[in-house]
Amino acid sequence: MKDNLQKFMFEHAGVRGELVELSETWQEILSHQNYPQPVKVILGELLAAASLLSANLKFNGTMVMQIHGDGPIKLLVVECDSAQRLRATAKLAADAVIADNATLAELVHSHGQGRFVITLDPNDKLPGQQAYQGIVPLDGDSVATIIENYMMRSEQLDTKLWLAADAQVARGLLLQKLPKIGGTESSVEDETEAWNRAVILGSTLKQEELLSTDVNTLMTRLFWEETIRVFDPVHPQFHCNCTREKVGDMLKMLGEEEVNSAIAELNQLDINCDFCGKHYSFDQVDCAQLFTTNTLVDGVVAPNAIKH
Ligand SMILES: [Zn+2]
Repeated sequence: MKDNLQKFMFEHAGVRGELVELSETWQEILSHQNYPQPVKVILGELLAAASLLSANLKFNGTMVMQIHGDGPIKLLVVECDSAQRLRATAKLAADAVIADNATLAELVHSHGQGRFVITLDPNDKLPGQQAYQGIVPLDGDSVATIIENYMMRSEQLDTKLWLAADAQVARGLLLQKLPKIGGTESSVEDETEAWNRAVILGSTLKQEELLSTDVNTLMTRLFWEETIRVFDPVHPQFHCNCTREKVGDMLKMLGEEEVNSAIAELNQLDINCDFCGKHYSFDQVDCAQLFTTNTLVDGVVAPNAIKH
């Protein structure tokens, strides 16, 4: 069964919602990496959240969510583009010891230095245009709370999230109160009441239930008494956009001296993509080419083309 993202609206209530389930995508991500269970849970929840949040964005590009941790987890990265193509990875400290019952705070914010960063990177940037970046401290004891706080602070949007993940599936529910638009029939009081009602219904959802129940069943079970408009489902999927050019670019950023000393020692640089596991190797000729040509494309593609 394909992965599913289901958008819906509470009719005449100014509340929108989404349910997502990521199974194939999540399995693909986990197949390249082996994480302790608590890391899987956090990364899976972040994956579901990225899918939910980016589905609401009206922009053509990639949303990148990063948690820079100061504990056993150094970095969590989840990316979702406007076509709901996702990838994710985690970096643990070399000496990381992770207990099965470790909390989010213990894993990423144990010295109060953890940060949560959301970047919106448009596909077709105009000259001089920067990616939008929002940075917030990691206040909250769950991925859902951290993102709810972020949305309130940076977007002034009332957002509620319910997230769950295990080694099989990542699922999530998002509810969002839409800004009041002038001219609509419903009063502010009506809309507040509708929002509160939606949140109460969402809050009946237990983590276990979210893990074990498909999106369509959840939809009916939670909101069967409501008048809801349901949109066509979207199908998120795994996609990694790594290329030899980008790996070459990264090597160029390390600098010629660094690369030369590594190649002198190793004879060949072997690099695996953190997201998809794809292997890239650069021999002495490849590396020399990186720094003798002005343009990246010449430097990276040309030697490859000659060899094959
Ligand atoms: Zn890759």
